[in-house]
Amino acid sequence: MARSFILFLVVILPHNYSVHLHMTLRIIPFLAKFLFFFLLVSVPFPCWSSSNGSIRNEKTLAMIKPDGLFGNYTDRIKNVILESGFIIFKENVVQLDEDSAASFYAEHSTRSFFSSLVKYMMSGPVLVMVLEKENAVADWRTLIGPTDACKAKISHPHSIRALCGLDSEKNCVHGSDSTQSAEREISFFFKEEEWLLNTTNYNRAQRIETMPRV
Ligand code: GDP
Ligand code: MG
Repeated sequence: MARSFILFLVVILPHNYSVHLHMTLRIIPFLAKFLFFFLLVSVPFPCWSSSNGSIRNEKTLAMIKPDGLFGNYTDRIKNVILESGFIIFKENVVQLDEDSAASFYAEHSTRSFFSSLVKYMMSGPVLVMVLEKENAVADWRTLIGPTDACKAKISHPHSIRALCGLDSEKNCVHGSDSTQSAEREISFFFKEEEWLLNTTNYNRAQRIETMPRV
């Protein structure tokens, strides 16, 4: 019995230790690699960060067009915006002139409805807002619904355009159709340095401006 115990101590135990040591040495590089990749993925990139520190937030331009303001839909639309998890990062009431309306919708300048669209956009002030949240561009487009408010009332009855739009032109609200458009459209209405303002620093007093800006 004693001999077996001594044999165990002398031969088997050191062997087990060496196996454990060997395995530990093999695991260390694996753990180091795992830790490295974990840190790489979990440290947010600066461009993903937003003003409130959440990840991958996007900004989009939303606009309540003249018919939306005239029809007193502003508060209802803003409620929908906030209930849907957007932050209203910036907002401003703006009166578009002919040049600015034409320039904003320049991509449609060859369309037959262009001059009518420009007149409509100049017919009263608009409320422009920079909305922020994860997936803001696509989510705002989904909320506003299809371009033609008549069709929206049938196919998307809970959309904003179904709520307050009239037809294919007077459709009450605008939303950027891509992140590139959002960037262009936000710069169109808000000066570069205003991007740097945090939501909490933003002075919420509304201003009526005439475009182009001074
Ligand atoms: P949106 O991105 O859904 O706003 O649609 P578009 O970019 O295609 O069009 C821009 C705006 O032009 C629309 O929001 C409407 O106000 C207007 N519009 C679009 N299609 C028509 C149309 O067929 N006739 C008229 N009169 N206006 C239109
Ligand atoms: Mg569009």
